[in-house]
Amino acid sequence: MTFKASILTLYPDMFPGPLGHSLSGRGLEKGLWSLEALQIRDHALDKHRSVDDTPAGGGAGMVLRADVLARAIDAAAREDDPRPRILMSPRGKPLTQARAHELAEGPGAIIVCGRFEGVDQRVIDARNLEEISIGDYILSGGEIGAITLLDAIVRLIPGVMGNMQSADTESFETGLLEHPQYTRPQEFEGRTIPEVLTSGNHKKIAEWQREQAEKLTQERRPDLWDAYCSLVDGNHK
Ligand code: SAH
Repeated sequence: MTFKASILTLYPDMFPGPLGHSLSGRGLEKGLWSLEALQIRDHALDKHRSVDDTPAGGGAGMVLRADVLARAIDAAAREDDPRPRILMSPRGKPLTQARAHELAEGPGAIIVCGRFEGVDQRVIDARNLEEISIGDYILSGGEIGAITLLDAIVRLIPGVMGNMQSADTESFETGLLEHPQYTRPQEFEGRTIPEVLTSGNHKKIAEWQREQAEKLTQERRPDLWDAYCSLVDGNHK
């Protein structure tokens, strides 16, 4: 079974977009995963094909209608469809590498992209949508969020990344940010590659990389560092 993504959006032309290139694009071509972008408007109920209306209680902007969105979701996924139903939402749980791994191991995802002021709460409740946020800022629509989420997932599907080993030391995989990277030329504007990396001593190299990763994490992400330390302490007990 390959990972199948169904996107519900008012802008299906935005897909696959960046996902059609590079690793994820080759994965699509090879059939390692699949994507369909479905037009929410096709499920509108009136002749104007309207999908939104003014917010109850007043206020600015428009809200995506529950009835239209529910019809779109039901058409994309039968009741026994095992795929999680996700709504891109700034109020959702922040996306993590761990959640991306879980989703990559599953059958796929149905991803709803909000627009305007968001979507009617009743469809979130009635269709049990899992709200996922890609960060503490507001985008104008869920599409870029969905592309971000899928990019994070798809590169973890076996066969999509050529060299799976490169994933192991990446930021967030170990609980630490990754160490700095270097490549040729040996000297760039008077700056040289740290000597240890060209020493050929693999133990020393691993130690250096670890130290750098710890230092960076401590400096830049005290939140990750605290979580990492309590995990390491826990393992020692
Ligand atoms: N009024 C809402 C924001 C609506 S933004 C609020 O204040 O919470 C319109 C749509 O863009 C949302 O429905 C959602 O699908 C998407 N979106 C905006 N920011 C996002 C984020 N940080 N993560 C995921 N989706 C986001």
